[in-house]
Amino acid sequence: NGCKPDSTTKMVCGFCSTGCSLNVHLKEGEAVGLTPATGDPVNVGMACPKGWEAVSVLDSPARATTPLLRRNDRLEPVSWDNALTTFAERIKAIIAEHGPDSVAFISTGQIPTEEMAMLGALAKFGMGLRHGDGNTRQCMATAVVAYKQAFGFDAPPYTYQDFEESDMIVLVGSNLCIAHPIMWERVLKNKRDPDIVVIDPRCTETAMAATWHLQIKPKSDLALFYGVANILAERGWLDESFIERHTEGVDDFVKHVAPYNLDRVSHETGLESTAIETFARFIHERERTSFWWTMGINQSYEGVRAAQSIINLALLTGNIGRPGTGANSITGQCNAMGSRLFSNTTSLFAGRDFTNDAHRQEVAETLGIDVDLIPSTTSWDYATIMENVLAGKVKALWVIATNPAHSWINQNACRDILSRLDFLVVQDSYVDTETAKSADLVLPAAAWGEKEGTFINSERRLGVIKRVKQAPGQALADFSIFKLIAHYWGCDDLFREWTSPEATFQILSRLSKGQPCDISGVEDYRMIDDAGGIQWPCPEGSPPSLANQRRLFEDHAFYTPSGRARFKFEEPKPLSEPPDDHYPLILLTGRGTSAQWHTQTRTRQSAVLRKLYPQQIYVEINPIDAKELNLEADEWVSVESRRGRVKARAFLTNSVQPGQVFLPMHYEPVNRLTDAVFDPYSRQPSYKACAVRVGPW
Ligand code: SF4
Repeated sequence: NGCKPDSTTKMVCGFCSTGCSLNVHLKEGEAVGLTPATGDPVNVGMACPKGWEAVSVLDSPARATTPLLRRNDRLEPVSWDNALTTFAERIKAIIAEHGPDSVAFISTGQIPTEEMAMLGALAKFGMGLRHGDGNTRQCMATAVVAYKQAFGFDAPPYTYQDFEESDMIVLVGSNLCIAHPIMWERVLKNKRDPDIVVIDPRCTETAMAATWHLQIKPKSDLALFYGVANILAERGWLDESFIERHTEGVDDFVKHVAPYNLDRVSHETGLESTAIETFARFIHERERTSFWWTMGINQSYEGVRAAQSIINLALLTGNIGRPGTGANSITGQCNAMGSRLFSNTTSLFAGRDFTNDAHRQEVAETLGIDVDLIPSTTSWDYATIMENVLAGKVKALWVIATNPAHSWINQNACRDILSRLDFLVVQDSYVDTETAKSADLVLPAAAWGEKEGTFINSERRLGVIKRVKQAPGQALADFSIFKLIAHYWGCDDLFREWTSPEATFQILSRLSKGQPCDISGVEDYRMIDDAGGIQWPCPEGSPPSLANQRRLFEDHAFYTPSGRARFKFEEPKPLSEPPDDHYPLILLTGRGTSAQWHTQTRTRQSAVLRKLYPQQIYVEINPIDAKELNLEADEWVSVESRRGRVKARAFLTNSVQPGQVFLPMHYEPVNRLTDAVFDPYSRQPSYKACAVRVGPW
């Protein structure tokens, strides 16, 4: 028929961080469908509903097709020339009047590494901006800081093969079945009959499928893991040889956890003492235990220490650098790892530091630019940028491929903050996001499938995306938009070598040389494609077999100055907003389905994905609480915090414990309720636990 493909090409999926390989079927060079690729190491022939629908969401009337400029309170189409002249003139005028701190940008984990690198270089070295951060602050900042402090570099150590080679898989704050369904499929391929332990306050789909669910009280992870560490130490269940040769600080850590006796930990976590003891014994007895965590840990007011309490267990028991082991943070977005290493926002290219003169010099020499163009201070993080908009210091914000008016914590305050800006620029593929609707200028961007570049997935694997469809209307690849902005700004001389995404990849390859994330052995996109993805590190001369499947720390050489991993710990803090008489319930938030992605910007454009998920917002309530509150199943209820109120359908279920309710994050109003508190080290927002009350609407 008319749509019968005449060729097929392969590319990596653009939703979650799993990085599945997809075969895109083409007719005359344009995508007409896709199927999961079968021969590559990541997804081995599978895809989740989002991946299957990746091409169809591109055909949507909500696509941004022309630049839009606000005039008389309406967004009106304008030419690219008009849009970019306005962009350059207004931002230059704001900087001239208020200084370089008055303009900031918010980047993303959704666009290819080359595009975010071009943005970071343009903004910092070309335009002279000092402040930019990524939406990865909302998901991965905690893991970044936890790894840097413990291992000396932001280095998730695992390969997905570890799911298949563990004797015990411990999933903490991770609903893997839903959030990373293809990783869950890898768990199911494990032939070692593993224990699958889920640690989560909610009885998630993953908890139901696990062999054991430890249903802890919200935010009691630190107490649990310190208690387990104490049992391991008291019973002599430590890997003394590993600890002595490869770690530092164990004595202080063991002293720190000594007061975490079973009674105390049982009281603080809500778990039976025998369960805690058995969990510790399992870790001791199993030859290979792998620990995995995601947003249940990261999105917390004490996320860094919680992540490190997991790392500490792996270090105590030598569960690192061997097959089926690791302290493994699972990333969220398709290119969160690219953003962490190459976005040039709060860290300098390839995991370097803006405040380190030697690092700045290395980057200046590699790029052939004056070192004075590189800021010597670290950028404000996302939260500080928002605070400074509120304080009137930041007057213009450039938001690229993210949707803070939906996703940023405490949404009512966030929208008020955005409304105070003199100039809000939104660069996105869709014009119906909550943030784009309030923009002063919209720059229409091509989406995944309409441009080229690379992503880096959770297991540090680079994958290629390709242009398999024409972008609609006048939409341009973000890379081209950044190049045009450089021209209109008058700094395009700096980017003479940055001629294309692949040319930029070569620049990043040079920047990475000698760093832990060295990719200088990756010759070109074709090499990545042929290998089905390549994991970093891949220094020049790496044997192809190593480049294709690599676990870190097999040599036990960590990236700290001493080469040893560090134990990091601290006393747990109480809930930042504990329930009380007025707000007696704890609100949990998280992913509700594998069929929707984050704020639904793309996935709501697919009729298939919409059918797979309720269109009306719902709140999970335990039947005991519902009875006490006199609420019926499916009735409209009010969920209210100190910051806002949400109308939702009551879904009575034992998946939440009495005293807790759950709202999926995909629905627009959820962040009206959340509380703007942050981890002090990572500055990641604590989305997971605040106090609410529920009643009839
Ligand atoms: Fe895409 Fe993630 Fe689904 Fe794989 S699991 S198809 S990467 S969204």
